[in-house]
Amino acid sequence: MRILVAEDDMTTRVMLESLLKKWGYDPVVVSDGEEAWKVLSGEEAPYLAVIDWLMPGLEGTEICRLVRERNRMNGKYQYIVLLTVQSEKEDVIRGLEAGADDYVVKPFDSQELRMRLSVAKRILELQEKLAFFANHDQLTKLLNRHALFERLSGEMARSDRERTSLSLGLLDLDHFKRVNDTYGHLAGDRVLRFIAKILCRELRPYDVVGRYGGEEFVMILPGASLQEGYRILDRIRERIGDRPLKLDDDQVELTVSMGLAEYRQGMTMDGLIALADEALYRAKDAGRDKVSF
Ligand code: GH3
Ligand code: MG
Ligand code: MG
Ligand code: MG
Repeated sequence: MRILVAEDDMTTRVMLESLLKKWGYDPVVVSDGEEAWKVLSGEEAPYLAVIDWLMPGLEGTEICRLVRERNRMNGKYQYIVLLTVQSEKEDVIRGLEAGADDYVVKPFDSQELRMRLSVAKRILELQEKLAFFANHDQLTKLLNRHALFERLSGEMARSDRERTSLSLGLLDLDHFKRVNDTYGHLAGDRVLRFIAKILCRELRPYDVVGRYGGEEFVMILPGASLQEGYRILDRIRERIGDRPLKLDDDQVELTVSMGLAEYRQGMTMDGLIALADEALYRAKDAGRDKVSF
């Protein structure tokens, strides 16, 4: 695990670096506050940091405040251990108030630091899991409804700003209840994962796909007009139809129906989804295994 070490005192810095390497961390070492902030706010910033309170440039507590502000914006969590010679109760409170997760008083005991970092790792791993399942569907691992709405709202704003096209597709499996009734719910779950995999493979890298609910999926197609959206969705429909899935001893042919709508400036998210939904119903009414718009 990468870990930032920010410490202006050379002896402590060198000692920290060698201890962390020995414990299996991958330390990024800096000697002042400005550099520390640069690393923590950069791309691929480490999630764990040991930061000295008193340093030239920015102080440890100021870095804590900046990191918390940034984490609020980007939804990530960076764990900070403050190193301090200030062990008065008020100082400790000030450090935690600024946003530190923990503190270690210098001169520090190496076993204590090691254990505090292993607590940090445990919390970060838990945090990562929670963050994943707050945004992803358990069964298919695709984005969930909540995350889809967030992405859609972002893409609508981008389409307004950059005057680019944006289309939205809704997909519903045809006669899926029959699959469950014939082969059981576990087989039904396999089908849902199978469809999710095909969607991920067939969509463009910048498209967004998620599970809307039950056997319904959403595809957000940035930059795609209605015509382009139709081409993309109809290809997916064909691919799914081309690939029967083995359930028990049968080769089960799956088909899907899809509704497509193009975003126009001024539409609400609900309005856009309702349009795609109406189109989906038309595809069902027209005999299924179709894309309507
Ligand atoms: P249509 O072609 O009109 O869409 O028919 P359908 O059978 O697909 O539609 P219906 O809405 O009647 O049934 C959807 C089924 O999807 C019912 C429900 O049991 C099943 N389903 C929803 N979520 C899950 C899931 O997570 N796992 C499994 N196995 N089945 C699910
Ligand atoms: Mg210092
Ligand atoms: Mg349905
Ligand atoms: Mg269905």
